[in-house]
Amino acid sequence: MPREDFLPNIDEEWLEKAATLWTTPFADTPSDRVIVDPILLSHAATLFRKDTKYFWQNPDEAVRMVCNGCELYDITPVGHYLWGDYWGQDYGAKLKYTEKSPPVIDEYPLKEPEDVDKLEIKGPEELKDGPTFEKHLTALDTCLDEYPEMFAPVTQFNGAFDIASNMVQAEQLLMWLIREPEIVDDLVYKMAEHMVNANKVVADRYGMNVMIAGSVVANGDLLNRDQIERFNFEPTCKAVKDTLKAGAGPGVYYHLCGEHKDDWDLWTDAPMSPFTVMQIGYEDGEIFPADKLVENFGDKCTTFGVVDTSLVQMGSPREVYDQAAEQLKKGKDSPRGFILGTSCECPTYSPPGNIHAMVRAAKDHGQYERF
Ligand SMILES: [Zn+2]
Repeated sequence: MPREDFLPNIDEEWLEKAATLWTTPFADTPSDRVIVDPILLSHAATLFRKDTKYFWQNPDEAVRMVCNGCELYDITPVGHYLWGDYWGQDYGAKLKYTEKSPPVIDEYPLKEPEDVDKLEIKGPEELKDGPTFEKHLTALDTCLDEYPEMFAPVTQFNGAFDIASNMVQAEQLLMWLIREPEIVDDLVYKMAEHMVNANKVVADRYGMNVMIAGSVVANGDLLNRDQIERFNFEPTCKAVKDTLKAGAGPGVYYHLCGEHKDDWDLWTDAPMSPFTVMQIGYEDGEIFPADKLVENFGDKCTTFGVVDTSLVQMGSPREVYDQAAEQLKKGKDSPRGFILGTSCECPTYSPPGNIHAMVRAAKDHGQYERF
C-alpha cells in the first residue's frame, strides 16, 4: 500500500497527547498516566491484512503500518522498525523470509575459528551502504518524511553476544563457548566495535541515536551467570560506553529478553545516560515483578514493566488486563518514569483485544500520583 492508501494524517489531538505521555518519563512533563509500549512490529501488518514477510521486506510500508497501528491502539507514538537479524548480512549472512515469522539467517558468515580471526569490522562509511542500513535507513527516512512527529532514530542490536549469534550458528557458538572460549571473547569484542560504528552511522545522519542494547540469546536458559557476564554484559557495556563517548547516544534501551534470574543484578552496573530504559523479561519463569524492577533500577533510569507475551498471544483480554494492572500498581510511580509493555516484541498474531486490554489497564490503573 502506498502512503496515499493510509489515512491522510495521524490525528493531531491524539498525537499531541500521546507524545506527552511518552516523554513524561524522560522529561518529567506532567501527564495523567503511564504510556503503553507493546513493542509493535510485524503485528502491525496483521491490522492491514499483510503478512510478516511483507512487513520485513518493505520497511517503508512497515513504518506506515506501525505509525497507524500506534494511533489505532493509543500506544507509544514511535514509528520504529527493529529487527534482531540485522548485521549478519553485512558480513555475508543469507536471510530466509517466511510468511509467518521474522526472517532467519539461513547461512552464517563465520564457520571456523580462523574466520573469527580474519573478520574485519566495517567502519561507519561501509556499513552505511550495507544491506542492513539499506532497509533500516529506508524505514527511518520514511518515518521522518511522512510521520515526523513519530520519529525516533532507534537502532537495534541487543548484546554483543546476540549479534555474534547472527554471525555463527548458535550450536557452533555454544560449542566454542565451552571448548574455545577465547575465540568467543575475540568475536564479542569485535561485535562491540561493530555496535559503536553502526550507532555512529545513525547519529551522523539524524543528529542522535537510541540504541537497543541488552541480552537476548544471552539468557539464563542457555548461558550461566559467568558466561553472560564475560561474553555479553562486559562487551555490551563497553559498546554502550564507547558509543556515548563517540557522541552517538544519548538513548540507551536495555532489553533483557527471556530468563534473567541469575544475571539481572549485573545490569544495575550497566552504563546509563540520562535517557536510559531498563526492561527485564522473566525471573525463574515468571514475569519480572515491576516493584523489584523499580526498587533496583528506579533511581537510575526509566523502568519498563512487562506483561507476558505468551499471555498476550494466547490469554484472554481479562487475563492480560489483570496482569497489566498488577504490574502498573507496582511500578507506575517509579522515580524516573515507568512504561508498561510486553516482555518482548508483540507477538505477530496477538488478538487486538489483548493489546487494547493493556491500554485499558493503563487508563484504569496507570494514573500517576506524583504529578
Ligand atoms: Zn526480546
